[in-house]
Amino acid sequence: MARERHVRLPLLDKVSTTPGRKSLVFAAVLPLLTLLDVFTLPSLRLDAFLARASWAVELVALALLFEHASEKQRRLLILGHCALGSFFYLALVYTTGGLESPYVHLVPTLPLLTAFTYPEESGSAVACGIGCALVIMAQVPMGTASFAQAAGWLSILGSATFFGVFGSNQFRKAAAAQNESRLERARRETLEKLARAELKRTQSERLATVGRLAASVMHEINNPLAFVRANIHFVETEVLAQPLSAELRQELEEVFAETRAGMERIQQIVTDLKGFSHSMDAEEARVCSLGEVVQDAARLASIRLKSVGTLKVEVPAELPQVFITPRRLAQVLLNLLVNASDALEEARVPQGEVRVRGEVLGKRVVLLVEDNGPGFPPQVLPRLFESFFTTKGPEKGTGLGLSISRELVERFGGSLIAENRPEGGARLRIELPIHEPGHEPRKSGA
Ligand code: ADP
Repeated sequence: MARERHVRLPLLDKVSTTPGRKSLVFAAVLPLLTLLDVFTLPSLRLDAFLARASWAVELVALALLFEHASEKQRRLLILGHCALGSFFYLALVYTTGGLESPYVHLVPTLPLLTAFTYPEESGSAVACGIGCALVIMAQVPMGTASFAQAAGWLSILGSATFFGVFGSNQFRKAAAAQNESRLERARRETLEKLARAELKRTQSERLATVGRLAASVMHEINNPLAFVRANIHFVETEVLAQPLSAELRQELEEVFAETRAGMERIQQIVTDLKGFSHSMDAEEARVCSLGEVVQDAARLASIRLKSVGTLKVEVPAELPQVFITPRRLAQVLLNLLVNASDALEEARVPQGEVRVRGEVLGKRVVLLVEDNGPGFPPQVLPRLFESFFTTKGPEKGTGLGLSISRELVERFGGSLIAENRPEGGARLRIELPIHEPGHEPRKSGA
């Protein structure tokens, strides 16, 4: 059973546009912008410089306080900063000519610009709007703007504030939805990973149990086999010592020869299986000829292949040697041969044929396992090496064979690829580096 685990997932920051370094950079540049006034104003103004310098001080204070503030304090700092920022900007406008100032045109857009800068905080546009409104309203008693002018500015500011708040809300909703889907995706991926790991563990446990079971069954077969063999030998000697007609003697000799061959076959199968179930983990990688490995796998596979077709092995004895764990490679080959038998059986190919060919390609030895079955359908081909991908029923396929086989071959610096033969049928291609004395790869008992 997959245990449910608590998974820590990243959350979207409440206030992700932190003032920090950006504020400090802006604070450094701001007083220097006074130089621009050379081009836009008749003369440089000290009060305009002071308005900018005060704004810069406010920005530095914001950056410093923000570092150590709690989440709630940060919100308040941002709101205060938006209100103060609009105040300083309007002070700049005031000191550079009021309605005649070259900077006045940006005033109606201030709430929108603020909302754009701090989109997560919808109050920022409101704070800026209020700050601007207060300064504009103060112009009426000060006599620098008429009531009608102030009312006109206020209505523009009101609309800009409204759209700023609306934009911020839209942004927050989109960010929340994005965050939610990110969390959901991460949760799904984690659960999928857990499920896969769990399935893999169950499969390995099952395989280990089957291995142990096979080992004990083999032991059980070996003992009676030994005395059956001894008894048959005894019966053979006794019977053939009797006076018999030539015809009967020949017949009996054939019967005993067949029985001996049958028993040797049983013995061979038991020995092969024993090798597979036992020394798999203990065996070290070594330099060996592929011919022996192919023969081992072919002998075992022939039990399965017999009912579906013929097996042809064309692996020249003079193929260069490779550095591998022979049992592991035999396991890979056996797996490919059993897959080929399954494909031939399922497609009911009348004259099924599986071929194992060996050849040299540059500095690599190539082993081809080919069959004249249906081959790989286009939708199956890209997924063949995925763990747990199988087109067989649950009682027949685990979907682990090819993925494990590829992993094993790659451990020895080789590769395993699958393709369809142009003439029809499947082809699995194992490539292994030719062994060069003194260049043994990392030793592995795997
Ligand atoms: P399993 O044999 O447990 O299904 P594998 O990883 O060995 O797992 O194989 C995955 C799939 O690849 C099989 O289910 C089958 O669809 C396909 N396959 C493998 N070998 C052949 C082949 N020789 N011909 C056609 N299809 C094959």
